[in-house]
Amino acid sequence: MQVKASPATILPSVDALLRRPEIASAVLEYGRSLVVQELRDALDRLRATLGEGAAVADRDAAAVVVERQALVRLQDWAAPPLRKIFNLSGTVLHTNLGRAPLPPEAIAAMAAASDACNLEYDLQTGGRGERDDHVIGLICRLTGAEDAVVVNNNAAAVLLALNSLANRRDVLVSRGELVEIGGAFRIPDVMARAGARRREVGTTNRTHLSDFAGAIGPRTAAIMKVHASNYAISGFTAEVPEPELAALARERGIPFLNDLGSGSLVDLERYGLPHEPTPMEALRAGADLVTFSGDKLLGGPQAGLVVGKAALIAKLRKNPLKRALRVDKLIMAALAAVLRLYLDPARLAARLPSLRRLTRPEAEIRAAAERVAAALSARCAARVAVSIVSCASQIGSGSRPVDLLPSAAVALRVPGGRALAGLAKAFRQLPIPVIGRLHDGALLFDLRCLEDEAGFISQLDRLARD
Ligand SMILES: *Cc1c(COP(=O)(O)O)cnc(C)c1O
Repeated sequence: MQVKASPATILPSVDALLRRPEIASAVLEYGRSLVVQELRDALDRLRATLGEGAAVADRDAAAVVVERQALVRLQDWAAPPLRKIFNLSGTVLHTNLGRAPLPPEAIAAMAAASDACNLEYDLQTGGRGERDDHVIGLICRLTGAEDAVVVNNNAAAVLLALNSLANRRDVLVSRGELVEIGGAFRIPDVMARAGARRREVGTTNRTHLSDFAGAIGPRTAAIMKVHASNYAISGFTAEVPEPELAALARERGIPFLNDLGSGSLVDLERYGLPHEPTPMEALRAGADLVTFSGDKLLGGPQAGLVVGKAALIAKLRKNPLKRALRVDKLIMAALAAVLRLYLDPARLAARLPSLRRLTRPEAEIRAAAERVAAALSARCAARVAVSIVSCASQIGSGSRPVDLLPSAAVALRVPGGRALAGLAKAFRQLPIPVIGRLHDGALLFDLRCLEDEAGFISQLDRLARD
């Protein structure tokens, strides 16, 4: 029979709890102060439930409850919030899943820079250096640009470019290019925050050179083009070719900005992939400034790059916003390491993880799917129907969603939608969470991005046990 005792008599003291062996080892692991705090919180919670009429058999039982709760909370505090996952979603550069995977060269460079380093220090002269100088030479060599600046992401690059060149003045942009990238990046909003007045020209589906020419006035600061990253306008359409826009801008003495978004540093068609505009092409087509991301197709850390005319880049560099948007030493180190890989194009697809995954041959993916399907069947065939299906991977991160890469997936089917959601959750709860996608009544694992196959398979036993 359970005795209803008053909280005062049944609750163990913190000192008594600290003498329990598991709590004592928790003190060694997490430190005394955090453990004591969690014990007090757990005691408070138990006291509250006792007050509401809940019953605990005796002081020992109460100690067990408090200990268990405190240990769970302590483990939560200790767990790193960002964890490695298997991205089998089928989207290679997935913004929610951390975009580009970094190569070991970038990790090593970040480790080297993590202590004191020559971030803004010139080792030759012993004087002050510029942080962007670590990558400007590389960027200019790879893109053919005169000069470059690096900021926190491409949104920052666009913000900095517009604010530096068009604060309180007009920027012409086609109505077909006022895009939303997702994650709250909308071109009209960024223009407004940059202080630029948006002057829309043309229509959603058709914009002509004459629309731009007619809109240029004394307050026009720039013409802006935005790459249609994540959508396609088809049917009765017209856009102005970049060289014509560039010629118009030059004739009227205003800069022409081209926001590429992704901006691959290599011609993806060479690898049999859909074409994505490159900064080199955009500069050759006459852009004065080109903006693009570091962690999209470039395959590096989160960063925004602006390349182009030296006189304009100088204005960006002088803008106080540059200081607020600058990158830190770890990003700078990683970016330099990734850019260096581009100096050896012959080995790039093998060394840069994002490109390696994008160019992985379908036959190789299918062979991996067969091995993984066999491993999955061996462990959970009783509950789950396992098959191999053809699927299409997306490049992701603002590459055109209509450009799909043929791939292969392992499809898991269970009777009932609830069960399928439960299955997806079980995979998410593995030590290295597995993220697939639900499609057509199945949980799909697109194997394009699975490089550590042994690691994936070795944790499946845990799934079967649970
Ligand atoms: C992705 C993208 C951006 C924003 O880049 P972030 O690096 O995500 O800040 C801006 N413009 C275009 C066209 C894009 O595709």
